[in-house]
Amino acid sequence: MTDVVTILGAGCTGPLLAALLARRGLQVRIYERRADARRVPPAAGRSINLALAARGLAGLERAGLMAQVRPLLVPMRGRIVHDFGGGARFLPYGQRPHELLWSVPRAGLNKVLTDAAAAHGVEFHFEHLARGADFAAGTIDVENLRSGRRLRVPMTPVFGADGAASALREAMVRSGRATAREELLDHRYKELTVPAGPNGSHLLELGALHIWPRGGYMLIALPNADGTFTATLFLAAEGGPVSFATLTTAAAVRELFARDFADVLPLVPDLAAQFAANPVGRMSTIYAAPWQVGAQALLIGDAAHAIVPFHGQGMNCAFEDCRALDDLIGAGLGWSDCFARFDALRREDTAAIARMAIENYVEMRDTVRDPRFALQKQLSLELERRQPDRFIPRYSMVMFHEEIAYAEAERRGAVQSVLLDEATRGRTELGDIDLRALEAAVIERLPPVTTPVVRA
Ligand SMILES: Cc1cc2nc3c(=O)[nH]c(=O)nc-3n(C[C@H](O)[C@H](O)[C@H](O)COP(=O)(O)OP(=O)(O)OC[C@H]3O[C@@H](n4cnc5c(N)ncnc54)[C@H](O)[C@@H]3O)c2cc1C
Repeated sequence: MTDVVTILGAGCTGPLLAALLARRGLQVRIYERRADARRVPPAAGRSINLALAARGLAGLERAGLMAQVRPLLVPMRGRIVHDFGGGARFLPYGQRPHELLWSVPRAGLNKVLTDAAAAHGVEFHFEHLARGADFAAGTIDVENLRSGRRLRVPMTPVFGADGAASALREAMVRSGRATAREELLDHRYKELTVPAGPNGSHLLELGALHIWPRGGYMLIALPNADGTFTATLFLAAEGGPVSFATLTTAAAVRELFARDFADVLPLVPDLAAQFAANPVGRMSTIYAAPWQVGAQALLIGDAAHAIVPFHGQGMNCAFEDCRALDDLIGAGLGWSDCFARFDALRREDTAAIARMAIENYVEMRDTVRDPRFALQKQLSLELERRQPDRFIPRYSMVMFHEEIAYAEAERRGAVQSVLLDEATRGRTELGDIDLRALEAAVIERLPPVTTPVVRA
C-alpha cells in the first residue's frame, strides 16, 4: 500500500474515513467543494439533524469519537404519532434502555469529525471541486474554486465520498468502468424549524420523533438540543390533491397546515416565510456497480449507494462502510483486493437497506395509523421478550443491532412479518392471540441470530 491517499468529500463519510485511515498511519488529504463548514454556517433547509443509531455509533466508537459526540445528542425513545384531531400516541422504538435513537445536528457532527481528522494530521482542502478523473493517467482533476487553478491529483488511491451526485462515480461511468442508475422518488421534502419556547424550552414533547402521518404524505419533527425542532414535510412533487406543485402561495401552505397539522401551525409563526425560503429537496436511491476501479478508486457512502431517508440509515450505513473498510485494511490486503472484498461484503447489505428504507416510507406515512400496526408492534415486543435470540423486531435489528447485517435483518423480517400477519388477522388485542402456539412457530421458523455484521 502507498502511504498517501485522497478522499473526495468532507460530508459525513469523508472525515470519518480519513480519521480511521490516518489512525492506521496513512497520510490523507481531502478535497471538499464547500467552504469549511466549521467557519461558514450551513445553508438552511438541508437535513439539519439526523437520527444516529447503533451502526453509526459503532463507527464513531471505532474512531474514538464518542466523548466529543455525546454532548450533541438528544435521545428519542419512540415515535409520537399525531392524529388529525390533535390526539397523540407514543410508540416506543424498543424495550431495552439502550434501544433508542439519537438526534444529532449535522453541522455539529461534521465539526467533530473534521476536527478529529485534522488532529490526526489529515490535510483539508476546502473549496476544491473534483471535476473528473483520468483512469488511464491515474489522476483526478480538481479545481481550486478560489483561484480557478486546476490540479492533477494522483489516485494513490482515491476514495469517492462525494455523496449522491458523486463526480468520481460519474467519471467511472463515463469511462465505461461502472454503471449507475438513479431512481428518483416522486416525493420531495422541505425542512422547517419549529422555534424554541421561552428559555430554550421545547414546544413539542422532548425525547421522541414526532410524526403526523396523513396517508400518502407526512410531517416529522426531530428535537435539537437548543430547544428547536427540525420538521420535515414529505409530499408528492406533483399530482394528487396536495403536492409541492400546489403549494405555491402562503395561503395554500397555511390552509394545508390548518387542515392537516393544526397543532404545528401556531408553533411556527413564520411558516409561510420559511416555506418560501427553504429549498425543496429530492430523494433518490443510487444503484452503482462496481464501486471500485482496481487499486485506483473506491466509492463509499452515498456515492456508492445513496438511499431514501425513511429508515434514518444513510449516514449510519456509511459509517458501517467505514468500519468494514477499516477492518479490511487492518487485515493487510493490498488496495485492489481490499476494494474488491469491500464491494463483495457490502453489496447485499446496502441493497437490503435501500429496499427497507423505501418500505419504511409507507409505514411512516400510512401504516403507522392502522390499529393493527400498533398491535403488531406490541406483539413483536412480547415475542422478543419471550424469544430474544430468535425474534427481534425488524426495526430493532436495523436500528439497534449492528451485529445483525442488513440483509439478515431483511430476511428474518420477512419471516416475522408473515407470523405477525397470521397472528393478528381479525384480532384487536394481545389477549386474543394464542401466544404459546405463536412462540412455537417462532422456534420452528426462526433460528437463533448468529450472523456477525462484518464478515471480513
Ligand atoms: C432529508 C434527509 C434526511 C436524512 N436523515 C438521515 C438520518 O436521520 N439518519 C441517517 O443515518 N441518514 C440520514 N440521511 C442520509 C444522510 O444524509 C446521508 O446518507 C449522508 O449524508 C451520506 O454521507 P456522505 O458523506 O456519503 O455524503 P454527503 O453527506 O452528501 O457528503 C458529500 C460531500 O461531498 C462534497 N462534494 C460533492 N461533490 C463534490 C465534488 N465534486 N468535489 C468535492 N466535494 C464534493 C459535498 O459538498 C459534501 O460535503 C438523510 C438524508 C436526507 C436527504
